[in-house]
Amino acid sequence: MNAPNTFPNTFKAQPDERGHFGQFGGRYVAETLMPLILDLEREYRAAKADPAFAAQFDDLMEHYVGRPSPLYHAERLSAAVREGAEPGMGAQVWFKRDELNHTGAHKINNCIGQILLAIRMGKTRIIAETGAGQHGVATAAVCARFGLPCVIYMGAKDVARQQPNVFRMKLLGAEVRPVTSGAQTLSDAMNEGLRDWVANVHDTFYIIGTAAGPHPYPELVRDFQSIIGREARAQLLDRTGKLPDLLVAAIGGGSNAIGLFHPFLDDPSVGMLGVEAAGHGLEGSEHAASLAGGFPGVLHGNKTYLLQDEDGQIAEGHSISAGLDYPGIGPEHAWLRDIGRVEYTNATDVEALDAFQLLCRTEGIIPALEPAHAIAAVAKRARTMRDDQIILANLCGRGDKDIFTVADALGVAI
Ligand SMILES: *Cc1c(COP(=O)(O)O)cnc(C)c1O
Repeated sequence: MNAPNTFPNTFKAQPDERGHFGQFGGRYVAETLMPLILDLEREYRAAKADPAFAAQFDDLMEHYVGRPSPLYHAERLSAAVREGAEPGMGAQVWFKRDELNHTGAHKINNCIGQILLAIRMGKTRIIAETGAGQHGVATAAVCARFGLPCVIYMGAKDVARQQPNVFRMKLLGAEVRPVTSGAQTLSDAMNEGLRDWVANVHDTFYIIGTAAGPHPYPELVRDFQSIIGREARAQLLDRTGKLPDLLVAAIGGGSNAIGLFHPFLDDPSVGMLGVEAAGHGLEGSEHAASLAGGFPGVLHGNKTYLLQDEDGQIAEGHSISAGLDYPGIGPEHAWLRDIGRVEYTNATDVEALDAFQLLCRTEGIIPALEPAHAIAAVAKRARTMRDDQIILANLCGRGDKDIFTVADALGVAI
């Protein structure tokens, strides 16, 4: 039992005024960045209190992104994962269909919110980091939509291995700048983005792609992505009259997961499971499970669990899914894990590939490899739950981008 006063009476009322979720989060930034961060925070508070800002966001969500996304009862998948379970066991699986959003994933929700904030602040140039390219594509799309120039920082290694998304960004009018420092991947691209921001703050807004970075980014990204959980909560209540028993979502930096979880945090009957990428397994270093295999440190302006060696050098994450290999995790998840409100597990490349194929064949839906990790965890967990219980998982992206990776992993030539 927690002593009185050490446990929050609402899990939703975080972070504190300096951006802390318990010991995590905060704003560990250079002095030169501090005024920018404070300015952003002031503007975000003002936008949050302004009904016109919410109205603009909602309008774009409906007519540009295609929201609300459907809530779907996956009956054949539910039956498939129930096979071999004890009688009366095997939960009902429902999906929040965020893979149907414009640009194919949840990233666009956050990009719309942040570009509206940029415009409100009078900024005329947008920058962003990207790993696999999904956040870069969503950012490039909203920049085209609002006629703002856009520079995307991307590790040189990622540029080479994610050519279709590099081309998409260019079609949408973005300039893609390869980053050749460090491991030449996502973490280095984010460092470069922060550097650009400091140098060009007079006209530039930095759109961060996940619920990480210095305060207030983890909070504002969460708030924009919480549309996922708010819609899902209302939709499930409407369809079944019940709240879900378990929420499940895949975790890279944690934005789609916190977007699903946050509106339910104060519903004590709702369990929550975040699924990290275990790559080739947690025994070696070829994984991206920051909570299961990392320890606390400071990166990109916040304190959280990080993949790092004993000298604090950031390790490169590995996952079959490029969107999950961020070496950190949003600070709110680090806190929710430590206080025990949310449970975290992981799925390997092989488990994700199996789950990917299972969803294709039972429901006629090709998921992205990221949510395939969540589906792998759903399949395991469902048979330990009663058949009148409900699992609600976020299908955070579609699989078009991943078919070549899957073909390669399955040894199929296409
Ligand atoms: C980027 C991405 C992720 C990982 O990012 P989060 O911030 O953890 O949500 C997961 N799924 C898809 C489809 C993505 O594009």
